[in-house]
Amino acid sequence: MTDFTYDLHDDGVAVIIWDVPNKSMNVMSRDGFAELDACIDRALGDDTVKGVVITSGKDSFAGGMDLNIIARMRAEAGDDPAGGLLAGLMQIHGILRKIERAGMDPKTLKGGKPIAAALPGTALGIGYELPLACHRIFAADNPKAKIGLPEIMVGIFPGAGGTTRVSRKLGAMAAAPFLLEGKLSDPKKAQQAGLIDEVVAPDELLDKAKAWVLSATDKDIVKPWDQKGFKYPGGAPYHPAGFMTFVGASAMVHGKTKGVYPAAKALLSAVYEGALVPFDTALKIEARWFTSVLLNPSSSAMIRSLFINKEALEKGANRPEAPDQKVRKLGVIGAGMMGAGIAYVSANAGIEVVLIDRDQAAADKGRAHAAGLLDKGVSRRKITEAQKAEVLGRITATPDYAALDGCDLVVEAVFEDPKVKAETTAKAEAHLPQDAIFATNTSTLPITELAKASRSAEQFIGIHFFSPVDKMMLVEIIKGAQTGDRAVAKALDFVRQIRKTPIVVNDARYFYANRCILPYTNEGIRMLRDGVAPALIENAAKLVGMPLGPLQLTDEVSIDLGAKIARATKAAMGDAYPDDAVDEVVFWLEGEGRLGRKANAGFYAYDEKGKREGLWAGLTKRYPIADAQPELADVQHRLLMAQVLEAVRAFEDGVLMDIREGDVAAILGWGFAPWSGGPFGWLDIIGAAKAVEICDGLEATYGARFKAPDLLRDIAAKGDSFYGRFGPASQDAA
Ligand code: NAD
Repeated sequence: MTDFTYDLHDDGVAVIIWDVPNKSMNVMSRDGFAELDACIDRALGDDTVKGVVITSGKDSFAGGMDLNIIARMRAEAGDDPAGGLLAGLMQIHGILRKIERAGMDPKTLKGGKPIAAALPGTALGIGYELPLACHRIFAADNPKAKIGLPEIMVGIFPGAGGTTRVSRKLGAMAAAPFLLEGKLSDPKKAQQAGLIDEVVAPDELLDKAKAWVLSATDKDIVKPWDQKGFKYPGGAPYHPAGFMTFVGASAMVHGKTKGVYPAAKALLSAVYEGALVPFDTALKIEARWFTSVLLNPSSSAMIRSLFINKEALEKGANRPEAPDQKVRKLGVIGAGMMGAGIAYVSANAGIEVVLIDRDQAAADKGRAHAAGLLDKGVSRRKITEAQKAEVLGRITATPDYAALDGCDLVVEAVFEDPKVKAETTAKAEAHLPQDAIFATNTSTLPITELAKASRSAEQFIGIHFFSPVDKMMLVEIIKGAQTGDRAVAKALDFVRQIRKTPIVVNDARYFYANRCILPYTNEGIRMLRDGVAPALIENAAKLVGMPLGPLQLTDEVSIDLGAKIARATKAAMGDAYPDDAVDEVVFWLEGEGRLGRKANAGFYAYDEKGKREGLWAGLTKRYPIADAQPELADVQHRLLMAQVLEAVRAFEDGVLMDIREGDVAAILGWGFAPWSGGPFGWLDIIGAAKAVEICDGLEATYGARFKAPDLLRDIAAKGDSFYGRFGPASQDAA
């Protein structure tokens, strides 16, 4: 396999083309690095070569590094994983530094060969770090292209020189959004920010890069940091301005990460310490911090869930064998909040959509919701008016069920009422082709029951979206007792078309995500009732990496929905219902009209514009803060275990069939502490034995809901881990 090809043109420019076979986007592998190194040696060693252009044979430049490399580097190093990783990283630095120095005399800085990068499209991670080592970066004017360093999003940081080079190029302050937030930019914005040098017409990309290479002087190819008297832009840490930047950045990082993301802190340390020393030493510091991050179990867990496993699920890891089930024409019934969102994301993905509601006005309202979202895109210059018109043109809004003729998939999103859903199913199926798949977006009703209204339970399935549909990336696919493989494949192919992440679960009360999230909010509410300070509850959650505390989350979802779910659950469970203590609080707030964010009043107080002001003082009037408050860790364990144990039970029960899905869905669906890699990731980090010990303690104090499930006890007794036992070894980056 050849990832890089070398072509010496008549004008003396060696063009190195990156084009990984059988991949739609280039990804850097270890072999790829070796090939690139050989190409560079060849160009630098050949006197007839005047300069080099590195470009791509695809319409993008590169999507990043194959993160499996890191797992392999570590594994191969045997007893000394840190040593193995550091050596591997320094080798990468060596190759990129060779490009940057380009054979010049280190003293006179003369005699090097100009090397330009020519990016036809997207350049992410190492796909931007490699150009950063070149002397000039050209990008094709392609507004869809994304340029940047998203590593922080999967729990690492740019470790192939990106951190050191971007911070020296832009200064720590200007570099912060790109390094600390993983901000991506289109080529024009990247140029404005100083990340790239020139944006050119796509058909001129190579010519312009070559012309620059042929005209570049010795001076043009010396990086600022290799010149005498280099001054760190914005000031290094001991400069008064630089000092302020680092103090601010440090506070911002801690405010945002609450100290649970090792990568952000390590990144900041690499920038700070690197700024105090010469460039090559800074690279070494970057490599050391990067090694420490890679060795942190949180990083492996995040890479595993947010990169490797997420991608595997999106590519259909759990798709049954069936011919391609791509959706051609989609019917959406119910043009309310969810239906309108589903219609929008589908039309955006190029699918023709029929959007049905009870009357024309309601259907039009759903289409108008899509128009509103598209307008936002236009005003932010993400799309043009013409593109908006094209997407909207794919949505036909009508009350006429006959328009469903020819639809190969229907997603029903009418009221959460079994009778209304049954009527809708029968009415729709009268117009659908015999082989169409019928899906329901219900959040609480059993799929197997709803399937009874369908002419074919085999072709009936749950496709559960989360709100708001255009933002939430998770889609839960639920198999009823008789749902067939083709329906599952259809749902998975649909989710892939709309570029979201699917999980496939079996039918059970609240499926997977809502089943785990309810115990979390309930536990928080229970603590409030028992006199735990509300601020302690909320902060404990955030300090352990939950994006929202349980009380805030309940406000966001709405108190009346919580009350409705509580009543339905109680009716279904009878005496076994465990949450009366929670209901006392929820029903009280409901009675007070404090229905959450939408009512500008809930657990929190809001101003008249809807801005959240703080926890509502009335809470502690009714539930006074007890004199004895629990330890922070105790509150955190309760909040985490409430979710995690439910995830383990869902897996024990066979609702969840793959722990990878359990972890990915927890992070994407309800923001479960991403640093942990998900509930199973967290259990593997702390170890099953420790988890059992925590559960035993909680059970003794707070009751049976914290009883360690048998599966957890068994894993602890045998010294196993969840991923060791249930995760495909190849998927395990740990
Ligand atoms: P909604 O009230 O905003 O919308 C329901 C729409 O269905 C309304 O526009 C209504 O006019 C229409 N409708 C009702 N009966 C109809 C019929 N017989 N034919 C055609 N249209 C009909 O509700 P929503 O929040 O969009 O929820 C819809 C479904 O999605 C429910 O099953 C709900 O449980 C589920 N769901 C909701 C959420 C959420 O966060 N809101 C999340 C996941 C799933």
